[in-house]
Amino acid sequence: MTKLIYEFSEGNMSMRDLLGGKGANLAEMTHLSLPVPRGFTLTTVACHDYQQKQTLSDGLLSELDQALTHLSQTTGKQFDGTSQPLLVSVRSGAAISMPGMMDTILNIGLNDQTVEALATLTHNERFAYDSYRRLLAMFGNVVYGIDEATFDHVLTAAKHVNGYQSDLELTSADLKQIVNDFKAIYQQSGKGEFPQSPKEQLLAAINAVFESWNNHRAQVYRQQNHISESLGTAVNIQEMVFGNAGDQSGTGVAFTRNPATGEKKVFGEYLLNAQGEDVVAGIRTPQSIEVLHEDMPEIYDELMAIAEKLETHYQDMQDLEFTIENGKLYLLQARDGKRTPYAAVKIAVDQVDEGLITKAQAIQRVSPESVSTMLHPEFDEGALASHTPMTTGLPASPGAATGQVYFTAEDAKQAADAGEKVVLIRQDTSPEDIDGMIVSQAIVTSRGGMTSHAAVVARGMGATGVVGAHEIQVDYVAKVAKIGEQVIHEGDWVSVDGTSGELYLGQIKTTSVGVKGELSVLLDWAKEVAQMGVYTNADTPQDFQKALDFGADGIGLTRTEHMFFKPERLVQMRRLILAEDALGRAEPLTELLKMQQEDFYQLYKLAGDKEVTIRLLDPPLHEFLPHDEEEIQAVSQQIHLAPEKLRERTNALKELNPMLGHRGDRLAVTFPDIYQMQVKAIMSAVIRLHDEGLEVHPHIMIPLTDSKSEMAWVRQLVIDQIEAMMSDQEFELAYTVGTMMEMPRACVTADQVAEVSDFFSFGTNDLTQLTFGYSRDDVGSFMPEYIKQGILPADPFQTIDTEGVGTLMEIAINKGRQTKAELPIGVCGEVGGDPASIEFFNQIGVTYVSCSPYRVPVARLAAAQATL
Ligand code: PEP
Ligand code: MG
Repeated sequence: MTKLIYEFSEGNMSMRDLLGGKGANLAEMTHLSLPVPRGFTLTTVACHDYQQKQTLSDGLLSELDQALTHLSQTTGKQFDGTSQPLLVSVRSGAAISMPGMMDTILNIGLNDQTVEALATLTHNERFAYDSYRRLLAMFGNVVYGIDEATFDHVLTAAKHVNGYQSDLELTSADLKQIVNDFKAIYQQSGKGEFPQSPKEQLLAAINAVFESWNNHRAQVYRQQNHISESLGTAVNIQEMVFGNAGDQSGTGVAFTRNPATGEKKVFGEYLLNAQGEDVVAGIRTPQSIEVLHEDMPEIYDELMAIAEKLETHYQDMQDLEFTIENGKLYLLQARDGKRTPYAAVKIAVDQVDEGLITKAQAIQRVSPESVSTMLHPEFDEGALASHTPMTTGLPASPGAATGQVYFTAEDAKQAADAGEKVVLIRQDTSPEDIDGMIVSQAIVTSRGGMTSHAAVVARGMGATGVVGAHEIQVDYVAKVAKIGEQVIHEGDWVSVDGTSGELYLGQIKTTSVGVKGELSVLLDWAKEVAQMGVYTNADTPQDFQKALDFGADGIGLTRTEHMFFKPERLVQMRRLILAEDALGRAEPLTELLKMQQEDFYQLYKLAGDKEVTIRLLDPPLHEFLPHDEEEIQAVSQQIHLAPEKLRERTNALKELNPMLGHRGDRLAVTFPDIYQMQVKAIMSAVIRLHDEGLEVHPHIMIPLTDSKSEMAWVRQLVIDQIEAMMSDQEFELAYTVGTMMEMPRACVTADQVAEVSDFFSFGTNDLTQLTFGYSRDDVGSFMPEYIKQGILPADPFQTIDTEGVGTLMEIAINKGRQTKAELPIGVCGEVGGDPASIEFFNQIGVTYVSCSPYRVPVARLAAAQATL
């Protein structure tokens, strides 16, 4: 029979899949002789079993009895005992951490008798009833689904009547009354009485935690974080220790390094005389861990020593939950700490410098996607200078964001769905708000600390976050927030600085951040390691400069048709396309030649000794033609062609399937003078730079090739032009002429195509379009449904379809290299910047990827990870 329950002393950290992250770590810490309260773990197999049968199996129940008996023996306490009552916590814990998404119940075992026993034992009646009212509220909410607010109202009313500011002022008499009122809530709810039997409480709690795997917020979190539905959660049952037992007690969380900035200094928060959920839920704003240093110096020192021991043991930044019960420290949890992308990079680089981890480990610690969030904007210093902050909170998650204010998750979601940029402002957030948080540019709360739900979630998502901005008073009914006299209405624009914690009214201009500091170090290591090169797709010196700043190896694709999207050029381009013959094309070509010479000159000059691959014109004609009568009139005036003539030419050029029409090298076959002009422009730029002392070797790329004979024809056109210019100028240089691989036919005949190509570069946009037969411009109308229905695992225009398109690529690579063993092979479609695709490209022998400038750092890291 499969063992379904493990005591902490039986497990270890390698058993995550079975014991969940929390259970495996509790077991590991038990082995490290750290002060962990005793307990045991119900495995994820038990969860699967429950999901199938919808009940706890007999086998599990009998193991549970044994485990409880053993826990009673080792703790010397009895479940239901009236002298030494055993109280336990019941907590979820999946293999992959899902903070706050599933349920927890504390103080299981308390009832009308044991609460008295606890009071007598601890000489603290107030503490006993405080624990009991917490159990009643948590149990009611988690097991019976009674709204938490119903219990909160009673608590708030009791404080109000007595004029108390904080929960701590409630007396034991008040708490006894609250316990009675809470029991009345059970009766009114119609769900049943609160069960007095500890065993019954425990079984109901276990059921509820298993059920919570399927609650809405957990499902949304799993989707967002790509966590498999089939993992299931383990359940940890652990002897309670009490942070609410008096002034020598408390509870807190600590990170072994700062999770927002990565600074190497234990960062934490704690509350005196409180239970865990008070800190995590942000109900009371906690004290900094520095205050613990003053309150209980010995405990502080012990905690620091444990933090160091754990970080060294796990070789990563840890997030600890601790409780102090009557002056004794206990650890309730340790796990790899969630951190901002900034912190992830800094911690990884620092830990290499400290000799704790290797460069390879550091590279693997940082998710490539998170790097892209680090490149996102911060507020423009000049623009910021003219704004005064309305208020300041804790800088929970760095970045800068502007958006329109909403006060509930539903309103935020609705506005975001309608295309608005949204900032969610709330008193605090709870896991139910996840839908609204995901779509927000920034999350702001008035309560809670750096480890509150809002802070943790914002950091995890890379959203800007400010928490505990206590001057903000949110009025959910009137849909306004007040800061002193100032009123923020729903829909007002605000700007949020997650690095300073400041909140501003209005929109503030942002600027982009470069690759610097530790990120630059990490990306340099990535470059040393990666097999594949990372180039950029750039058409302008500005884009190219950005990509160079981000460490691009050169240009892998210049889409020359993009160079014509400026008004003065569009005119010439239209004259060229609409001309009836070579004679008509001669003048616009001369104009375009001048412009293109300068374009190429600038790119080459910026590149220095880096490679630049220029693709000859590939314009889908429809993008350049006038679309309606109004445009016909305007263009007619611009290019001095009578409207009826223009209409006639436009009609003659109209195509039913323009993406499959007269574009790419097909245009070269019918209008050779266009490619001749471009090659002339390239060579003129090269010669000019040669005269200035810079040696450039042009790489010219032909789009849309589908056969050897077609490529041979176009290649000859290009080479004739190059050779003519070289002999004219008595000038020699090496150059290459390669092809894009974007037609399935070219892939399956790649051995032949390679005979006339110096390199291949996969245009996965067109290759995907033609392999699936999906029009790349029209997929939006059905792709979301395909993904929702699970027909496709992902949009193949964003992540390579390895089975179909990928197989064609493999065929092309193998055949191409049969002909030329050293054939350089690139990928320059959009998936060239996608980490999952990059891993695949590395496997199939791609030489380099090329992507948009902002994806370059992401691709560099992904390329290194693919190699390791
Ligand atoms: C491609 O098809 O993947 C490609 C890079 O070319 P374009 O997107 O310009 O058609
Ligand atoms: Mg293409």
